Amino acid sequence: MINYLYQEQNWKTELSNLITDPNELLDELSLSKDQLLSGSILASEAFKLRVPRSFVQKIKKGDAYDPLLLQILPHHLELEEHAGYVVDPLGEEEANQLPGVLHKYKSRFLLTLTGACAVHCRYCFRRHFPYQENLPKNQDWENIKQYIEARPEINEIILSGGDPLTLTNQKLSIWLKRIESIEQIKILRIHSRTPIVLPSRIDNEFTYLLKNSRLRIILVLHCNHENELDDFTVSQLKSLIHPNIMMFNQSVILKGVNDSAQTLVNLSYRLFDAHIIPYYLHVLDKVKGAHHFDLDSEYIESIYTEVLANLPGYLVPKLVREIAGERNKTPIYGNSMA
Ligand SMILES: *Cc1c(COP(=O)(O)O)cnc(C)c1O
Ligand code: SF4
Repeated sequence: MINYLYQEQNWKTELSNLITDPNELLDELSLSKDQLLSGSILASEAFKLRVPRSFVQKIKKGDAYDPLLLQILPHHLELEEHAGYVVDPLGEEEANQLPGVLHKYKSRFLLTLTGACAVHCRYCFRRHFPYQENLPKNQDWENIKQYIEARPEINEIILSGGDPLTLTNQKLSIWLKRIESIEQIKILRIHSRTPIVLPSRIDNEFTYLLKNSRLRIILVLHCNHENELDDFTVSQLKSLIHPNIMMFNQSVILKGVNDSAQTLVNLSYRLFDAHIIPYYLHVLDKVKGAHHFDLDSEYIESIYTEVLANLPGYLVPKLVREIAGERNKTPIYGNSMA
């Protein structure tokens, strides 16, 4: 029986039945509400709790410090103000050329088709970004196309978000056809956390779409801890193995979640089990509300040194920071050797 190949119905049902109430989440995880509930309710007013039930099942019951829980439970510390932690740390509003288009780097640009995500990650640098005002409509496609054709150096489009895999297959296939119709585009990249938090999203039709595109497909997943990759998630991801598709992962180094060399080493090996190559390890962007996830840069470098010493080179993600105005992500470790 091929139980790993899903139908759209399954994940749509899951997506319409997320946990959004902190009270329910704490009940589900048998956690004491005394310390967590009131702060969680307050913090969720600024950025709502949103998590698929299948992700909650990966969280250990009764453990308020579970590394997966910390990523999704609203916390009163988010409400603290800290100098230097701002609403738009990357100046993205300025890089916005056309509705949905965020073009900062030469050969490739981000195309945002939805502001929605399957999960709300508390550290997310886009938590304040005004997506809803900025999504491309069907009639914007002609302008986007002209924008690309006027810039022959563009050969790759990155669907980013929000999370593009919250869109239906039908909508995705419409955009895929549009992108395929521009000859200079060779690569379609999809940045998504959805397959990690809602693995049933990898359904028959989606795998068919990717495997039959004329474009090279790069799927960049977002996973921060090996516990996010349970057996079901890994088998779903493996259903995407195909000569036309490459899978990479980006993580953010987060205090309390994955701030140890052993955790990062385990994550790399687990990703490898799923045929995913670690790509980036991002240092947190200084976004308002995420200060409690941040780590001292010397500490990060000491962890990274250990990671380098304990993994084969192909399983070491590049440690990078995004600096507003730079032409690429900035490597942090060993920068002087570049
Ligand atoms: C990260 C990012 C990309 C992709 O950069 P790569 O280094 O190719 O992964 C493209 N555009 C923007 C705006 C980005 O932030
Ligand atoms: S899925 Fe990605 S874009 Fe969405 S909240 Fe999480 S980190 Fe942010």
